[in-house]
Amino acid sequence: MILFDNHIHSEYSPDGRMTMVEAVKAAEKMGLGGLSFTDHFDIDAPGDNNHFSFDPKEQQLKIDNLRTDTDLFIGKGIELGLQPVALESAKRAVSNFDFDVIIASIHFVDGIDPYHDKYYDLREERVAYGRYLETIFECISKYKDFDILGHFDYITRYSPYKNKSLTMSHYGEYLDPILRVLAENGKALEINTNTYRNRNGSAPVLDYEVLKHFFQIGGEYVALGSDAHDAVRVGDELKEAATNLVNTGFRYTTYFSERKPVLLPIS
Ligand SMILES: [Zn+2]
Ligand SMILES: [Zn+2]
Repeated sequence: MILFDNHIHSEYSPDGRMTMVEAVKAAEKMGLGGLSFTDHFDIDAPGDNNHFSFDPKEQQLKIDNLRTDTDLFIGKGIELGLQPVALESAKRAVSNFDFDVIIASIHFVDGIDPYHDKYYDLREERVAYGRYLETIFECISKYKDFDILGHFDYITRYSPYKNKSLTMSHYGEYLDPILRVLAENGKALEINTNTYRNRNGSAPVLDYEVLKHFFQIGGEYVALGSDAHDAVRVGDELKEAATNLVNTGFRYTTYFSERKPVLLPIS
């Protein structure tokens, strides 16, 4: 089974802790089929987050050089942060470059990153998670220039609640509309294995019923991503995710080359 890591941060991300060369070496060591560099690009980010961007021209030149030295497919990507108030700027920011893949991610809700405790102040779990999911829906309903929806359950990484799983049974009313937008527009849903790590005493769990529902309503593409910021996590848990995916109906995982999906059979 060929595995592809769709979500990698290099030295072009301010919080990246590995070079592109180190990432490629790690991917080769793991026997991956390839990886895409999807460095952070958050437009009009609130507060002091404005350094979360990079020069795609420079990053892509570096990838061109790397490609001459490896048999792996190295994707030119970007993790584009979307906010309802900054969709036009997002569109402008990516329009001058040719990417292999654009991951759309939501890192801010009403101007606050759910990474910060203050997002949860005075909020019940359902309100906090629900508002995050509503924001995803709002963004992807209006903004379509992307290939993969990144970490739909980002918020569970940092939330203080006991329940850290966005299950279909509890959050279906929020998840279903998101999954329908993806299915109807031929976008991929990401399984982001960075979410399921133990950060503060308990680890979020992916409810594969979400994937099953996505398949049932006509979703075609699932992309696996480690969201690695350091070399030890490149390809992390991708095999396990692909194996679990079999039970949801999907027969392929996906990566993107020149914005077109390429299917990799799950065996
Ligand atoms: Zn992200
Ligand atoms: Zn990321």
